[in-house]
Amino acid sequence: MAKQQFEAESKRLLEMMINSIYSQREVFLRELISNASDAIDKMYYQALTDDSITFNQSDYYIKITTDKENRQLTISDTGIGMTKEELESNLGVIAKSGSLAFKKENEIKDGYDIIGQFGVGFYAAFMVADQVTVVSKALGSEEAYLWQSEGAEGFTIEPTEKETVGTDITLTIKENTDEDDFDQFLDPNQLKTIVKKYSDFIRYPIKMELTTQKPKEDKEDEFEEVTEEQTVNSMVPIWKKNKAELTEEDYNQFYMDKHYGFDKPLQHIHVSVDGNIRYQAILYIPETTPYNYYSADYEKGLELYSNGVLIMNKCADLLPDYFSFVKGLVDSEDLSLNISREMLQHDRQLKLIEKNLVKKIKTELVKLLRSEREQYEKFYDAFGRQLKYGVYSDFGQNKETLQDLLLFYSSKEEKLVTLKEYVERMPEDQSYIYYATGESNARIERLPQTEVVLDKGYEILYFTDDVDEFAIKMLAEYEGKSFKSVSSGDLGFDAEDSEEESKTTDQDQALFDEMKEILKDKVTDVRASKRLKTHPVCLSNEGEISIEMEKVLSMMPD
Ligand code: ADP
Ligand code: MG
Repeated sequence: MAKQQFEAESKRLLEMMINSIYSQREVFLRELISNASDAIDKMYYQALTDDSITFNQSDYYIKITTDKENRQLTISDTGIGMTKEELESNLGVIAKSGSLAFKKENEIKDGYDIIGQFGVGFYAAFMVADQVTVVSKALGSEEAYLWQSEGAEGFTIEPTEKETVGTDITLTIKENTDEDDFDQFLDPNQLKTIVKKYSDFIRYPIKMELTTQKPKEDKEDEFEEVTEEQTVNSMVPIWKKNKAELTEEDYNQFYMDKHYGFDKPLQHIHVSVDGNIRYQAILYIPETTPYNYYSADYEKGLELYSNGVLIMNKCADLLPDYFSFVKGLVDSEDLSLNISREMLQHDRQLKLIEKNLVKKIKTELVKLLRSEREQYEKFYDAFGRQLKYGVYSDFGQNKETLQDLLLFYSSKEEKLVTLKEYVERMPEDQSYIYYATGESNARIERLPQTEVVLDKGYEILYFTDDVDEFAIKMLAEYEGKSFKSVSSGDLGFDAEDSEEESKTTDQDQALFDEMKEILKDKVTDVRASKRLKTHPVCLSNEGEISIEMEKVLSMMPD
């Protein structure tokens, strides 16, 4: 049987598509600028392969102009242009990408900078425009053509005049409605903001006429309006620059420009990976805790770029929760994007990048801990709790990554120490890492339970955070040494056992029974202890859950 072709209501399809694939209207500009950049890339590529064309960097740029009165926004480029046939097929067939074909024809492998691939970006213009006209003159062609469309109704093509090779795309911007502000797309300053947001690292200059207030030449406190052409994009992203060229100041400035935080970053990490999956990243460890950090409002994530074009503002998949304080971005040319270019098709690539970044962050933190202890303690003060949550919530899976980053206050050193430092100075007869839990160091110091352990000359770690003991329970041991609470029934060493036992007289026993009677179900037993020195009484527990943990657990909502 002969197969029938599907008939698509292309009008409806176009409408559906342009209004459903993008989450934000403003990305139309990103799409048009990306196309312009691709067109210039193609020109550059032709020049590389054809001696009769010279490529003069300064002749290639993208220009954005507005005409408020006529509601027109124009994006011009000095790229390779389109022939009549190309206008017809590239802009007339939805999901046909001239750029993808160009990459294939010229056997351009991944990694080349051409952005286009899906053949739908151009139509994003109809999210904000009632009419789009494209005037284009192709490289090597004498004629220019005008393509025009009101979207759903189809398009027309006719000859026109254009002097230079390249393309001018003019949008007639929609009228404002009650819900939608379209006027913003006619305001140069708004447009500049959108360009900076999505297209700051397009490699060619994006020029605009902008009006700014400038001090008058001879009178410094008087201002005048000056309109001048500016290049609004930074072009070369800082992460593509050579580390050796960059100063601390540059990284700090970038942190500020990006509004990653109001503080100065404690540390930056600049990574450039050329392996299976190529990417660059700049990461920051902030100095202070964001105000909402330990709340549900805080959103973790890194900015994700594909080839210098912003794809996602907060890509959560690039960071595990325990490093959620890290700020920064990742740029990769090897991502497989979905059609809206707002998401990825495979998270396998992200997983790989994440794994790598975690390693880098850890290395950097360990370095900080070793060489700049004070800075590290500042960091730990801000984010240490998150690391401990990390140990606790992943059932010890992140043990390897996190255990050496933990710090606890030490009875011996009277400052924060690492587990490694603790274990290294353990006396030979000591078999456990001892800890005591309490609300504050001062309160722990007054705990009767600490006395015998201290008398033995053993060091005690002070756990003052609710999460501390839970995290330690997940770790279970460090370098073969288990953790032991000073209030646990069995401390793991003998304190002249037999002698103590014999001290319990009948009279004592009567007293204990009486106490037990009064305390009822608050205690399981009352007995003589071998661990008291100067205090008359202390609480101790048997089994896994310590008194402090029980307190925390009983406070948790069911
Ligand atoms: P994509 O960029 O994913 O290929 P688009 O819908 O954005 O899809 O563009 C479709 C095609 O139209 C491009 O592949 C390219 O061949 C052509 N095109 C669009 N804009 C321009 C331009 N400014 N200059 C030259 N060609 C362009
Ligand atoms: Mg495109």
